[in-house]
Amino acid sequence: MSSRTSDFHAWPDPVEVLNAEGQSEIVLICEHASNYIPEVFDGLGLPPEDLVRHIAWDIGAEAVSRALSLHLDAPCFIGKYSRLLIDLNRPPESPTSIPERSEATDIPGNFHLGAEDRQLRTDRIFTPFQAAISRHLDLRQQQGRPTKIIAIHSFTPVFLGEQRPWHAGILFGKSFGLGRQIIDRLTEITKLRIGANVPYVIERISDYAIPVHGEDRGLDAVLVEIRQDLIGSADGQSRWATYLAGALS
Ligand SMILES: [Zn+2]
Repeated sequence: MSSRTSDFHAWPDPVEVLNAEGQSEIVLICEHASNYIPEVFDGLGLPPEDLVRHIAWDIGAEAVSRALSLHLDAPCFIGKYSRLLIDLNRPPESPTSIPERSEATDIPGNFHLGAEDRQLRTDRIFTPFQAAISRHLDLRQQQGRPTKIIAIHSFTPVFLGEQRPWHAGILFGKSFGLGRQIIDRLTEITKLRIGANVPYVIERISDYAIPVHGEDRGLDAVLVEIRQDLIGSADGQSRWATYLAGALS
């Protein structure tokens, strides 16, 4: 544990902020952008091929977020660590904040983790990531700027053997109006199957950005889930960034 602490100076900042001065009323968040795990964790005991799977990150989501940030002139907050270390879109008190199992894969490096190790990941990754977003939202609020939060994610076409029929899902809690508007526009633009609150629903125990950064501040907040095979290539990523820019402008 002490070796982990001393290695922290070599760790990257947990958040990359793009276009902080962007003029859009939209603020983009991409929590699951990266599959990066510092060497000291030895891949959490997983073979390299597992660390490029969806369990470690949202494939394609970062590139879509970066391109969308440019299209919209919107600030964008990008997570720089794998969700297997700590999930930036779950409260740290959630039982799956640091998963011992993801889909059907055990994560040996997360077994029987002590309070000290949990706290370390919270302090070095989760807390500073959320604080950067909170500071930005505080500033906007002081300036009286209108703000909508859009989080960008991707999902696997098949989960635990079950085929998922949607091309994208738009997830919302209180932001029913904005959610429906994005679904309608995206359906019109893409002619694809865009679902409401699929393949997940927003819940306070398993979500963070939408309830905390959005609803607790009284801001509209919607989470976009894109089927990951549609944004696995640069072509698909740029196409979906254009689709979303159309739906959000
Ligand atoms: Zn995600």
